[in-house]
Amino acid sequence: MDKFRIAVAEGDGIGPEVVAEAIKVLDEIASRFNHEFVYEKVYIGGIAVDKFDDPLPDSEVEKILSCDALFFGAVGGPKWDNLPRQKRPETGMLKIRKALGDFANLRPAKVFDELVDASTLKPEVVQGIDILVVRELIGGIYFGQPKGIVEEDGIKKGINTMVYTEPEIERIVRLAFELAMQRRKKLTSVDKANVLDVSQLWRDVVDRVAKDYPEVEYNHLLVDNAAMQLVRNPKQFDVIVTGNIFGDILSDEASMLTGSIGMLPSASIGGNVGMFEPIHGSAPDIAGLGIANPIAQIESAAMMLKYDFKLDKEAEIIEKAVDMVLKMGYRTPDIMSEGKRKVNTQQMGDLIAKTI
Ligand code: ATP
Ligand code: MG
Repeated sequence: MDKFRIAVAEGDGIGPEVVAEAIKVLDEIASRFNHEFVYEKVYIGGIAVDKFDDPLPDSEVEKILSCDALFFGAVGGPKWDNLPRQKRPETGMLKIRKALGDFANLRPAKVFDELVDASTLKPEVVQGIDILVVRELIGGIYFGQPKGIVEEDGIKKGINTMVYTEPEIERIVRLAFELAMQRRKKLTSVDKANVLDVSQLWRDVVDRVAKDYPEVEYNHLLVDNAAMQLVRNPKQFDVIVTGNIFGDILSDEASMLTGSIGMLPSASIGGNVGMFEPIHGSAPDIAGLGIANPIAQIESAAMMLKYDFKLDKEAEIIEKAVDMVLKMGYRTPDIMSEGKRKVNTQQMGDLIAKTI
């Protein structure tokens, strides 16, 4: 029997509601496949501010670092919006990301056949989209020095610096090639090499690493072109690898192609403890109503099994169960359309667990 310790941070808003459904699914997997999942409850975000007056106390970081993975809901809400920055729930998020050292953020953007009509784009453009954006998460312009706002001769100057070292580029690029090998063996590296020197280094590293993966068909795209291609012909993409800021923007763009924010998971990996969370926020507008879509959280659990615990088959079974429940016509309100059967958060979780 394999035993895995999972730190669970339900967070705020709909977090606890959707996490509960994902745990249901994980428990079903555990009992079917004879694994043991041990859950360690931890507090991050608004709930931690209420309890400890700190969005991420050191005690919680320690607990998380002793686990195999961090399974995360979502943080934030109007209740905490007016606190000073160091006490804001989002600060807890940024701090934990840093503490875990996960340098790769994986964001799949997949269009379920059943939900093609949820996108605002034409069905023929959208149907079959299956993209994985691999974003460098702990380097680049968000962290480079010098940074800040300085004043010189009475004129204020805002500064940020885009820095990547060769090893930082190599580890994310290599991971992306590995992921491409497990998928359709296509990789697009996105940069701004016509303007930025740091991008030229990025490009050189991609060309060098590519030699180790001759089966992967790869190309380079400038970020402006990539943004355009994503809405014009998104099906050309399999894996997209890029730096922190470009990845931030492109992964949001890619996810919106699918039109269903309640369906999309994410994984942050590469450090000691991986972190798995839906891309959506705490959705304060629907919190407590029991109508949130738990699928993004459930798919995040599947990513945890696949990328952290190497339980590929179990992850695939979760994905299949989600597919089947959608095919049977069950929908939470956010993805509801005519002739389908409306269910609430719990019912959706039950259906997926039962289908497993
Ligand atoms: P954040 O700043 O944390 O990203 P946000 O306010 O930008 O939060 P969300 O909290 O993701 O964004 O909410 C955006 C919209 O999507 C809201 O109307 C919310 O109700 C809806 N939404 C988000 N997640 C879900 C979900 N799982 N099921 C149904 N609707 C959702
Ligand atoms: Mg947001």
